[in-house]
Amino acid sequence: MSGAGKVYLIGAGPGDPGLLTLRGKELLESADVVVYDRLVSPAILGFCNPAAKMVDVGKMPTHHKVKQSEINKLLVQFANEMPGATIARLKGGDPFVFGRGGEEALELVAAGIEFEVVPGITSAISVPAYAGIPVSHRGIATSFHIITGHEKAESNGELSLDFETLAKCPGTLIFLMGIANMDFIARRLMECGKDPKTPLAFIEKGTTPYQRTVMATLETAGETIARENVTAPAITIMGGVVELGNTLAWKKNLPLSGKRLVVTRAAKQASGITARLTALGAEVIETPMIETRAVDGNFDWASLANFGILAFTSTNGVESFFRQLFAAGFDVRVLAGKKIASVGKITEKKLLEYGIRCDYVPEDHTGEGLGKLLATLPVDHSRILLLQGNLADDTLLKLLPQATRWVVYETLPVVELPEWKREAVAGADAVVFASTSAVENFCSALAATPDSEPRLAFCIGRMTESAARKHGFDTVTSDETTMDSLVKKIAEYYAGEGA
Ligand code: SAH
Repeated sequence: MSGAGKVYLIGAGPGDPGLLTLRGKELLESADVVVYDRLVSPAILGFCNPAAKMVDVGKMPTHHKVKQSEINKLLVQFANEMPGATIARLKGGDPFVFGRGGEEALELVAAGIEFEVVPGITSAISVPAYAGIPVSHRGIATSFHIITGHEKAESNGELSLDFETLAKCPGTLIFLMGIANMDFIARRLMECGKDPKTPLAFIEKGTTPYQRTVMATLETAGETIARENVTAPAITIMGGVVELGNTLAWKKNLPLSGKRLVVTRAAKQASGITARLTALGAEVIETPMIETRAVDGNFDWASLANFGILAFTSTNGVESFFRQLFAAGFDVRVLAGKKIASVGKITEKKLLEYGIRCDYVPEDHTGEGLGKLLATLPVDHSRILLLQGNLADDTLLKLLPQATRWVVYETLPVVELPEWKREAVAGADAVVFASTSAVENFCSALAATPDSEPRLAFCIGRMTESAARKHGFDTVTSDETTMDSLVKKIAEYYAGEGA
């Protein structure tokens, strides 16, 4: 085997990030390079290893950004230049369903590059399912046929479809990429004898918060597309099964359906609000504006022997401390005999992952609570070591002036967003801010594209609001300084807008 990198042809599914396979997610998390298409949703790009090189080869509907032959070459080139690397080729739906995955695989074989195919859920079946339309149904359709509505014949530039045969097919017909040609397709099918009353559905942006279903019949196909302005990506499904959609459409229109919101909280704090906004139908782009990283503290490890109590005030502190302890060649045995204190239950639980039980946890889980508890212990306070981040306030040190503090991790502003994220943010309806620093960091990271960011900000607190105003945002501020109150406010805002 050559020392080249390996290419994974990965199906991203139809859009809903929950429909990506476990294998696909695992590979994206460890990928060194991700070569992705236009239809892949930002939420899925968010799963990718933050250190991965992200290459957008997406095709815009009007012009081809990167030619297929160039994509093929690119994959071979990455594999050859990056021995041992994981190269993820991420494609909408399934890579082998009108995804040109086969062509890419052939090219890889020709170049002697190792590859693997990770199938995805094809839009052909899942998008109708999200509209409540089963592609087959007993007594209605015993087969279904997936057809490209795009392939032109080389000889005359006409659609290279065998309309005679298709018109006779008793099964469900599913057209991908066919919206632009649907008027023609429908007319040809009728000319070849297909019943003009055949029910038909167009499903736009299926499985995403923007999903829309438009019903028609074969004879009204063209005029319906024009009237309703059906746009790609959309699927056309024809046949008796379409009528089941009237009864089985299960995906509810939610208060935030069709809204894209940017959440600027730190990754660890974002999941709660993300889950709530997603449950209300929004597409959420998590864009943390701070990141934490362990500092290379060059600590005097020998001096650990002088301390009798180690106090932790965050899970970040625990992780960073042990990472550096291990990197310095020690293990937990150097803590033998020492007492361990934690500010609260979450930090306590994190310590347990390292095999360490806490001796002291205050009743109220605050720095002050911890400081007071430690101050009452009958020990020399110079024997206390505080393990904290650079932004920790001085509460503990004030209560324990003789203690020593090691800054084991730093919280830094995110100064740059990757291109895919900037694009996702530019297309958003609003940004959610929970602190003035999030506003400042967000605006400076996006300074390169000042016109493209959304103009509406949902804010927690008056300080945040005035920071956002200063940067030119229109603001909506929660009544109380809680996430619950903010989520309620966002839902109310859009409910009012729709009315
Ligand atoms: N490999 C993909 C298909 C690629 S062709 C798959 O297996 O799904 C691109 C076409 O797929 C689009 O023109 C559209 O017809 C369809 N498509 C993909 N995602 C879609 C979605 N979320 N909603 C509706 N149609 C979609």
